[in-house]
Amino acid sequence: MIRKLLDTLRTLMSVPRDNPKLLRAQYRALSRQLPLMYLVLLLNMWALVFTHLPSAPLWLTLHIPLVMTVVCVLRACMWLRSARRLPDDTQILASLRRTNQLVPVIAGAFTCWSLALYPYGDAYSQSQVAFFMGITVIVCIFCMMHLRPAALTATLVVNVAFVVFFASTHNPAFIATAVNVLLVSLAMLIILQHHYHDFTRLVNVQAQTERLGNENLRLANQDSLTGLPNRRQFFTTLESAMNLAIAEQKRLAVGILDLDGFKPVNDLYGHSVGDRILIMVGQRLQQLAGATVHVARLGGDEFALVLEGDLSDEDLQVFGRTVCEQLHVEFLLVDVPIQIGATLGIATFPHCAASAVQLFEYADYALYQGKRHNPGSMCLFSASHREQLHRDAITEQALRRAVLDKEFFVLFQPILDSDSETIAFEALARWESPELGLVSPAQFIPIAERIGLINRLTLPLLRQALGMARLWPEGMRLSFNLSVHDCGSAESVQSIIDVIKASGFNPACLDLEITETAVMQDIPQVQWAIGRFRKLGCGISLDDFGTGYSSLSQLHALALTKLKIDRSFITGIHLNPASYKIVKSLVTLSLDMELECVVEGVETFEELQALRSLGCTQVQGFFFSRPVTFAETLVWLAQAEVRRGPWDPEQALSSA
Ligand code: C2E
Ligand code: MG
Ligand code: MG
Repeated sequence: MIRKLLDTLRTLMSVPRDNPKLLRAQYRALSRQLPLMYLVLLLNMWALVFTHLPSAPLWLTLHIPLVMTVVCVLRACMWLRSARRLPDDTQILASLRRTNQLVPVIAGAFTCWSLALYPYGDAYSQSQVAFFMGITVIVCIFCMMHLRPAALTATLVVNVAFVVFFASTHNPAFIATAVNVLLVSLAMLIILQHHYHDFTRLVNVQAQTERLGNENLRLANQDSLTGLPNRRQFFTTLESAMNLAIAEQKRLAVGILDLDGFKPVNDLYGHSVGDRILIMVGQRLQQLAGATVHVARLGGDEFALVLEGDLSDEDLQVFGRTVCEQLHVEFLLVDVPIQIGATLGIATFPHCAASAVQLFEYADYALYQGKRHNPGSMCLFSASHREQLHRDAITEQALRRAVLDKEFFVLFQPILDSDSETIAFEALARWESPELGLVSPAQFIPIAERIGLINRLTLPLLRQALGMARLWPEGMRLSFNLSVHDCGSAESVQSIIDVIKASGFNPACLDLEITETAVMQDIPQVQWAIGRFRKLGCGISLDDFGTGYSSLSQLHALALTKLKIDRSFITGIHLNPASYKIVKSLVTLSLDMELECVVEGVETFEELQALRSLGCTQVQGFFFSRPVTFAETLVWLAQAEVRRGPWDPEQALSSA
């Protein structure tokens, strides 16, 4: 019981040092109120001095008041100073403790001094002493109510002395005043307690709100999986880095990084392994980053970097190479090591781009180019990229305005077998734009894909190609290129099937080509689409084979019928042992998998010889023929005297 009482007393009389926010709020309130308290105290004191000047001794009316004035002015100045600049938490705690210790001394001094004046005055002056004490203590309680121990101490010191002193005068008026003051003080103490409680609660609620606000801000700016800054934070960092770079006239770079081969890993091992890889990628990036590189995750398998530190193009190349190499190092998460890659696009400020948004767009474009042409490496945005981007923008505008049925057509390039007999033609799209002239599919297909126009383009081209192919000798095959977007939804797959069925061309003579990199973007969906085309009887060729990241198991799962080895391995194959070895292994692979194999891009006799020595049978390339019109295919077929069954090229031409 006594212990509990002591504990309560200790709580009442101590400063809450475990709550710095409360201490700071108390200090702020006191620094506004205490100078006022000292002012009132001094004015009241000197008013009392004035009335007692003729009767009381000099040490009571001058010396002591002067000392007390100096003390009060010093304290008031201290509080006024700190109102302008808040000290740190330890200084605040020390200052509040000092105030608590000083209060009994100052309150005691004023009480003793005023009671000492009592014997020297007449009845009016004695009443003034009582009034001075009673009223001044109320002001003090009000001014110190944010520091409970100080207010309690002042009340206790003054009122105990007051009540005891005036009750002992045996004067009924003073005894009544003593009782009044006692009651008022009790009421004041209750109000003080309530006020202090409310004040503490308010400060704590404010602190909690601030904490929650900070937490929300942190969560809003953080990627929950990797703990890295998120897209929003990335742009904030980029903006401030940009301002700094402008002020200091320094270079700044933005990098956007996309993982290669992450999706298949996710599909194969599940999302939890995928998530752990993303976390580890974030860690590897942060280890490489250092103080001037800020890493963020934009979403999915895309990360972004803000590279400060005035890095030159060479520095960026070295950094980019290191990043790509590090992310190519195996991840040891399951029983087999997992290997992915990363492509990084970088753009620099102020060299390339003028604003944060442009810098980001250019880095993204560099990434896109890197992904298309050199996945697994770093690509720095260059002047030629800017030109390309400009061209793309013009092409995009023209493409949006193009009349699809009129401006687009197909050419055909023959595919020959080992006896140099034409066994198929590949249909290749062409765009004769009234504004831009002849535009290459390498230019407009990616744009059509990006702006969602590709499906509307595929159908008329396929219809056209099938309509013409129907007029070739029976058994002649047609190869037609599909975009990954053509396989992207059930509706687009169905509309392609409908066109094939309606054409009257034998689906068994149709090969649909899908590029390897496109397939890798969404294996399950492409797999499903391939299944539907195969059911119809069509063949499926994996185009540009060797440029993607497909593994053997993925190839097996795709139900392919043909591999088309990419042109990049064929150019100068007879001079390049590395290309020779690659093609050799790709050909062996196709044999092992019992898939047909077409080699595209044969330009010279030497290349053809080298390929024949590797056992390649089906070939295609400028060495035999460039892509030609339908009419020219008929001439080609007639000249080659390819006659399979009753077929008349002139009749075919007239019906075309
Ligand atoms: P692809 O399917 O790999 O087609 C082969 C490309 O290589 C064609 O370029 C062809 O003209 C070119 N080529 C063939 N032999 C040689 C050679 O010996 N040397 C050189 N340097 N090039 C050769 P093209 O017609 O410009 O087409 C480029 C790409 O555009 C195609 O590559 C294909 O991916 C895409 N594409 C073409 N037509 C269509 C289409 O109708 N739909 C879709 N989605 N993509 C298409
Ligand atoms: Mg092709
Ligand atoms: Mg190809």
